[in-house]
Amino acid sequence: MTTTYLWNPPPVHSLPVRGRTERLPINRLFFVGRNYHAHAVEMGRPVDKRVEVPFYFTKAPGTLVESGATVAYPPQTQNYHYEMELVLAIGRPGFRVAETDAAALIYGYACGLDMTRRDLQLVARDKGRPWDLGKDVEQSSVVSEIVPMPGQVIRRGALELTVNGQTRQKSDVDRLIWNIPELIADLSKFYHLQPGDLIFTGTPEGVGPVVAGDRIDGRIEGVGSIVLHVGAAA
Ligand code: MN
Repeated sequence: MTTTYLWNPPPVHSLPVRGRTERLPINRLFFVGRNYHAHAVEMGRPVDKRVEVPFYFTKAPGTLVESGATVAYPPQTQNYHYEMELVLAIGRPGFRVAETDAAALIYGYACGLDMTRRDLQLVARDKGRPWDLGKDVEQSSVVSEIVPMPGQVIRRGALELTVNGQTRQKSDVDRLIWNIPELIADLSKFYHLQPGDLIFTGTPEGVGPVVAGDRIDGRIEGVGSIVLHVGAAA
C-alpha cells in the first residue's frame, strides 16, 4: 500500500556534483569545533591535542544552502559570523573505522561556510547550554558543488575567505589539529557514518561579522570556491 501523508514531506536535500548530472543526497551535517590552533586561541579556548579529543555539533540538513545564494540576515543576532571550512563528503558507510581504513569512506570535498550567530553561541557556551541557537541557524550551512575525489585524503591546500574583496581568513588545511583520517576514525566511534554525511572540518582564525549587503567569497586550493550574499533581515 502506498504511504500517504497529511502534507508534503520535506524535500531531499542535495548538492550538485562536479562533472555529474546526478546530485548528492544529504544525510547529516556534522561540524568539528576548534580544529585550528589559531582559531581556538582567538576564541579563548586553546587546544592541547595530547589531552583533548575532537568535539562536534550538528545542524539540520534543512539548513543547507548552495553557493551563490542570497540569504537573509538571521533573526535574534547582532553578530552573524562567517567560518570558512573544508567540507568532507562521506560516500560509504563505516563504524569504528581505523585511521588506516578511513580513506575508503571519502567520496569527495567541497568548500563550506559554517555561518554562526556568535553572540548566541558564546552565551550558550559560557552558560554550559547547547549551541543550537548559535549554530543550527536556518540557511547557515552553505556548501559549494561537491568535487569527487574518492579515496583521496586532502592533507594541504591554501584556504582563504574575503568579505567584499578584503581578506579575512587565510590559512592552510595542513594546520588542521585533527586531520581527515583522524576525524573519520573518531567520529565513527560515535556514529554509523553513512553516504551523504557531510563533515565540516573546522575554521581557521580570522572569523568575524557580516552585515546586510556583504559578499563573502571563499576558496580552497585543489577544491574550488564558494560565494554567499547576505541580504536584508527577513
Ligand atoms: Mn565551524
